[in-house]
Amino acid sequence: MGSLPFTTSDLQTSTSGVWSSPTLLCTPLMGTTVDQMLIEMRKAKEIGADIVEIRLDCLRNFNPRQDLEILIKQSPLPTLVTYRPIWEGGQYEGDENKRQDALRLAMEFGASYIDVELEVAHDFNMSISGKKPDNFKVIVSSHNFHNTPSSEAIGNLVARIQATGADIVKIATTALDITDCARIFQIMVHSQIPTIGIVMGERGLISRLLGPKYGGYLTYGALEAGAISAPGQPTAKDLLELYNFRLINPDTKIYGIIGKPVGHSKSPLLFNASFKSVGLNAIYLHFLVDDVAKFFNTYSTPDFGGCSCTIPHKEAALKCMDDIDPIAKKIGAINNICRRPDGKLYAFNTDYIGAISAIEDGLRELNGKAPGGTESPLAGKLFIVLGAGGAGKSLAYGGAQKGARVVVANRTFERAKELADKVGGKAMTLEEVEHFHPEEGMVLANTTSVGMKPKIDETPLPKHALKHYCLVFDAIYTPKDTRLLREAKETGAVIVYGTEMLIRQGFEQYKNFTGLPAPEELFRQLMEKHA
Ligand code: NAP
Repeated sequence: MGSLPFTTSDLQTSTSGVWSSPTLLCTPLMGTTVDQMLIEMRKAKEIGADIVEIRLDCLRNFNPRQDLEILIKQSPLPTLVTYRPIWEGGQYEGDENKRQDALRLAMEFGASYIDVELEVAHDFNMSISGKKPDNFKVIVSSHNFHNTPSSEAIGNLVARIQATGADIVKIATTALDITDCARIFQIMVHSQIPTIGIVMGERGLISRLLGPKYGGYLTYGALEAGAISAPGQPTAKDLLELYNFRLINPDTKIYGIIGKPVGHSKSPLLFNASFKSVGLNAIYLHFLVDDVAKFFNTYSTPDFGGCSCTIPHKEAALKCMDDIDPIAKKIGAINNICRRPDGKLYAFNTDYIGAISAIEDGLRELNGKAPGGTESPLAGKLFIVLGAGGAGKSLAYGGAQKGARVVVANRTFERAKELADKVGGKAMTLEEVEHFHPEEGMVLANTTSVGMKPKIDETPLPKHALKHYCLVFDAIYTPKDTRLLREAKETGAVIVYGTEMLIRQGFEQYKNFTGLPAPEELFRQLMEKHA
């Protein structure tokens, strides 16, 4: 894209940024009346914002002298006053002189900041020259609602903004790809004056979260999920509570989950709470990724410590790895990627470890043994895996690795056959499993989606067939208590929940990322509360 030399080492932090104060959290007020804004500013303070942005263009029946005095003087937080015209993405359509008069009035009434658009900034700054109160700052902003230009173009833009006499530079661009954020980080890291760099849109979320890492002056956090002033804006509450915004600094290590879609993932909640609980300087984000290779090539510094990987990237990511855990390679899918100290990417499949260890502990419980241990109680067992998709592969390979005699049964027989051949097992159809019981005490693992929400009345195997199994596992975790597991329990089998696989694969990821044991109790509590 750009012609400015750009290497990811430009994203190295800690020493380069001139601006080193903590990034401020600013909550935009979008009320349409002064009274609404007064309520909103109190809420913003309660949530923990540092500044409120008074968006004058949202007010109906705005009376500058009277309203500005009330809003600025009664604000419990320092104020940033913005009167965004329609030509820069705002709502104000009136006379330009009146708009700028209102901004000058805001300065006189004691606003801490005003935001003025680059197009008019030079003349505006001339008009207030010599009249600026102490500690009052002008933010000169530029918004691009189409894309994020090249590094060179952004560099030129910053120079133009600085030349207007801006105290603070604000550049807001639009993300077409998550890697667009890197160019904004680069600008913030090297900026000589305080800079606000925001990449709008869902793919730009990390630009809003990583301001404290790359020396951003300020980031915006909405009062509520629906009340955003620009696309992709997180809530102030999520910034503070979900992403530990106040704990992020230039040395913070970055992890996350790559996927598309990915916003629904609860992993950031689990990992960020866990990192915080042990005082680890790390953050875990949602990475909405379109092109996996581009993502890894762009964010390649040691600061990016690794990621979890979900649909649809579990297979594509394989090609970007320097090394792959042997079982993950056989399964053909990875879900956990770590950057080693030498910079190389190493991948794991923690799904199979999570599921198999849960089944092993279930069998140990059945045998009156303590959880854990090196010998696998699956060794020699007849292990029936229903399904031959992603989860089916993990279970079949995992079981075979532990010495189980694996049978793969699947709706589409050819897929069962292919997988069974690979793991040295036997293949059959789902119907055949119903009457297959060469011995008692078999182990059953359902990895089909039969019985998953919303079709919770379905089950992959009738109840009468379950009496030959000593343990039944269901990969499905929505609902936790599937019909299969309920009926297996009624026939006297030990049951193992899909949530257990989910939690344990998370433990493994945490261990791979940090080299530390996962805070298991906290993981379980959070899972119980939020899953
Ligand atoms: P997948 O790759 O799409 O495989 C789906 C499997 O289900 C295939 O074997 C498919 O058979 C079978 N199937 C789908 N509909 C069926 C039906 N109506 N009747 C019979 N078989 C049917 O999906 P996956 O990623 O393996 O996920 C499968 C299940 O495991 C999902 O419920 C998922 O939520 C769960 N899972 C849980 C965890 C966890 O951590 N607990 C992790 C991963 C997955 P065909 O080959 O004939 O299409």
